[in-house]
Amino acid sequence: MEKIISNKIQCKHCGEIIESKHIHEFVTCKCETCSVDGGHYHLSRSYKNSPEEDFVELSEVEEDNR
Ligand SMILES: [Zn+2]
Repeated sequence: MEKIISNKIQCKHCGEIIESKHIHEFVTCKCETCSVDGGHYHLSRSYKNSPEEDFVELSEVEEDNR
């Protein structure tokens, strides 16, 4: 299991950093290329082309395998 500390990405097209803080908080960057959703429950992304082309992953995830 991993625990999500923060759920955020930076759009490579407009440079905006967007973060989803709540499970149903869907956030889209200002150029509308990418979005995050899922808050601290699951990492959900939407993008136009591919993750490599569209955003930088900035999420922090903690491994919880004690
Ligand atoms: Zn953008």
